[in-house]
Amino acid sequence: MNLSAYLQGRHLPADATWTPTIFADVARALRDDRALALALALTPHFTLRELLHSDTAKARGIANDPNAAQIAALRHLCVHILEPVRAKFGPVRVTSGFRIFTPASQHGRGEAADFEVTGVPNITVARWIRDTLPFDQLILEAWSPSDPNAGWVHTSATVRQMRKSVLRTPTGGAPYFAGLPK
Ligand SMILES: [Zn+2]
Repeated sequence: MNLSAYLQGRHLPADATWTPTIFADVARALRDDRALALALALTPHFTLRELLHSDTAKARGIANDPNAAQIAALRHLCVHILEPVRAKFGPVRVTSGFRIFTPASQHGRGEAADFEVTGVPNITVARWIRDTLPFDQLILEAWSPSDPNAGWVHTSATVRQMRKSVLRTPTGGAPYFAGLPK
């Protein structure tokens, strides 16, 4: 398959097989024809731009560019988490996907995203993911019992064994507590 043809088409045919070669081509295109690469839809409703956007990277002057393996991980996340959430609840707003500057986090491997669905309480989305999807780790972050719109949902997916770890935190970080709020 010709890279510029699928980049210019902005998406691959739904039945196309994403090979390691294609992911390497996309990683290279981020350097060679950035605007085109960013517009590429990894899956029908999620572009590479949405998954790479980072105010922190921009503020620090860091190029938040994934390699081929990290792009493959981002697509895996779109297929197994973000597209099913969108199909169930409607448009998903990704607030943080890939983060090259947090290599120890699953965000640094392209395996995790933070997101919200406008008009749907984060706890509703989190419970549905917990009960429905094959996730690796699900964290309801910065939740507040008095404000259903507070915080965001963090979810990861990997090609390894999925842990199905479920955590919550009233802030955006430690300490974490097991499970979702009652
Ligand atoms: Zn996160």
